Amino acid sequence: MSRAKTHGKPSYSASGHQHKKQFGQNFLNNDSIIRQIVHAIHPQADQHLVEIGPGEAALTTPLVQQVKRLDIIEIDRDLHQPLRDKLGHYPAFALHQADALRFDYAQLATDDKPLRLVGNLPYNISSPLIFHLLNFLPHIADMHFMLQKEVVERLTATPGKKSFGRLSVMVQYFCQAELLFIVGPENFEPPPKVDSAIVRLTPHQPLPYQADNFEDFSALVKQSFAMKRKTLRNNLKGWLNDDDFNTCGIEPSLRAEALGVADFVTLANHYSHHYT
Ligand code: SAM
Repeated sequence: MSRAKTHGKPSYSASGHQHKKQFGQNFLNNDSIIRQIVHAIHPQADQHLVEIGPGEAALTTPLVQQVKRLDIIEIDRDLHQPLRDKLGHYPAFALHQADALRFDYAQLATDDKPLRLVGNLPYNISSPLIFHLLNFLPHIADMHFMLQKEVVERLTATPGKKSFGRLSVMVQYFCQAELLFIVGPENFEPPPKVDSAIVRLTPHQPLPYQADNFEDFSALVKQSFAMKRKTLRNNLKGWLNDDDFNTCGIEPSLRAEALGVADFVTLANHYSHHYT
């Protein structure tokens, strides 16, 4: 997703680190944006933060000084020793050499404080990472992520909007999603080709609409969006018939993008009760 403006030529940070495209390494280079992000996170002294992809510690440095514990998860081994040298003396600091996509976040939730997740995420893994994190929501207080602006628009879209899709429904089933602000490519080294945005995800407690069988709900949402231009009747053929839609009070000639989370829960619960 990210591209160095040098078109294939390697790009280096001031410390001499060669940015790696395969790890989505676009490092923040604007102190005022970094301050704005930290301000939005609003870290407190008794809190437990987890940062995904610290890179060269643009966000880590201000955060580690302000919280009780900061676990950082970084896949690039070349960055580990510089991170230890820079931040290892802070009592809050704990480094994990790991892939954030496979990481067991529950193992970090050792104290009574729920985790606050933060990160300027590698754009190429942002959707699978968010789906992975949905498994750990009982341990998570909130998440502040920098993502490609288009992904933030999908996360925060309301029904009827062009960017409303499966990711919107699945994330909004669990979380309130807010776009906080947009960050232009000039604030990164190397600059990505697209705009970025900061999103805040706050898990609902309790869930406003509860699916009786989560696997059915998840499968039905996926199937409803299988062919974006098709109607619900067509995408859900073999799952629900017109009588089922009538009973649920949902018009089968609509497309999935017109439905809210509550409608998908209604359809999924009907399916669970009548067909499984
Ligand atoms: N936080 C730094 C900043 O804002 O300047 C770096 C952000 S950079 C966009 C993404 C970071 O995530 C890089 O440090 C990269 O090596 C790391 N990363 C990429 N894939 C990862 C993965 N699967 N697990 C953990 N870290 C990863």
